[in-house]
Amino acid sequence: MDPNSKKVTKEDKKDYAIETLCVQAGYSPASGEPRILPIYQSTTYKYDSTDDVGALFDLTKEGHMYSRISNPTVAAVEAKIAALEGGTGALCCSSGMSAVLISVLNITSAGQNILASQSIYGGSVNLLGVTLSRFGIETRFFSQDMTDDEILSMADENTRLIFGETLSNPNLDVFDIERFASLAHGIGVPLIVDNTFPTPVNCRPFEFGADIVVHSTTKYMDGHAAVLGGAIVDGGVFDWSCGRYPELTEPDESYHGIAYVSAFGNSMAYIVKARVQLMRDFGAIMQATSAFLLNLGLETLCLRVERHCANALKVASFLEQHEKVEKVSAPALPSDPRHALAEKYMPKGTCGVISFTVKGGREGAVRFMDSLKLASIVVHVADARTCVLNPAGTTHRQLTDEQLAAANIPAGLVRLSVGIENADDIIADLSAALEKV
Ligand SMILES: *Cc1c(COP(=O)(O)O)cnc(C)c1O
Repeated sequence: MDPNSKKVTKEDKKDYAIETLCVQAGYSPASGEPRILPIYQSTTYKYDSTDDVGALFDLTKEGHMYSRISNPTVAAVEAKIAALEGGTGALCCSSGMSAVLISVLNITSAGQNILASQSIYGGSVNLLGVTLSRFGIETRFFSQDMTDDEILSMADENTRLIFGETLSNPNLDVFDIERFASLAHGIGVPLIVDNTFPTPVNCRPFEFGADIVVHSTTKYMDGHAAVLGGAIVDGGVFDWSCGRYPELTEPDESYHGIAYVSAFGNSMAYIVKARVQLMRDFGAIMQATSAFLLNLGLETLCLRVERHCANALKVASFLEQHEKVEKVSAPALPSDPRHALAEKYMPKGTCGVISFTVKGGREGAVRFMDSLKLASIVVHVADARTCVLNPAGTTHRQLTDEQLAAANIPAGLVRLSVGIENADDIIADLSAALEKV
């Protein structure tokens, strides 16, 4: 190589700060190649010899063979996300739900169980608690307020993992990652953390002992409400050879007898298996065009997350003072009971999502939301545009006021996803709408 070449190698990039990784990681064109990550819109790849393609099947050579297993555009984004989280490898998926599904099934079979926080995203509660139970996998939900002993008493020799969300959607409960990593490791199982809301810009769960990280890239990572996607990231540290995970240490008969830990080491065994076995079988892939759009989103992730957090804090402080508002829930606010834990795990900020209760119950919330001009009513959070949702009138509309209270969802609760517009414009819109309540 030309000693004067300015080419940045993969190794160099590991040392860069996250702002630089967001822009530069994952794709380093050689001389004369496209500056921007190309969309490789191809299901298939061409080889010079049968030996070439044979080595790919044997996993002794790196390369692409079929886009249900890997694709160059998707691979670049996977490398970027792995770099952002500080992991050894990543697998992109068609949605956050498929990432959660594959992350669990990769090490859990019928007859086994997992422990999961009851605060997690409703879709994940359904998947783990209802759908997977139909396939013989039991999810035991714990409250993050339970003692260590209470949580550990739910585990047994068939427990495979512990699962939680750094900042839960939508309640914004903060997951004490160090505590749960130590509980998990104490019983010889890994900790899987859904890091969707803070993103690696605000929290990197591997630094606190998490073993696997999952994402719905649909939220801040894409950030423009343009593409559904998910990702699984391997921390590369968990010791799978402890004897509890034969699916990683014993020969895989569906992949001509490969034993993932001996072939790839603890550092990559989990993520390679997820790709060549489960993604091969499920086909829940991220498309090349989606990966291209996700990559554009990731380039500005740091800037956007910073603005989302700053705006959300201003908005939350405004709402906290407002006479028509009963309660504001935002761990970034010093008055929030979860503030100290949020400061420990997310010292730079939490996320743009907050929630608050409008006085006047369901009717008050409806009048408020229908009076908004800038903020729009959508069933989504965490993109550039400010948006609102009233759970009582939408996702939980079948419940009576009494049932809502029992589920800790006041009828007047508004979930507000603060965007990256000018904070004063957002506050003026909220203020005018609150006048109508
Ligand atoms: C949205 C979300 C999911 C599901 O992601 P999709 O991309 O919608 O499938 C999973 N976990 C969290 C924390 C989420 O916010």
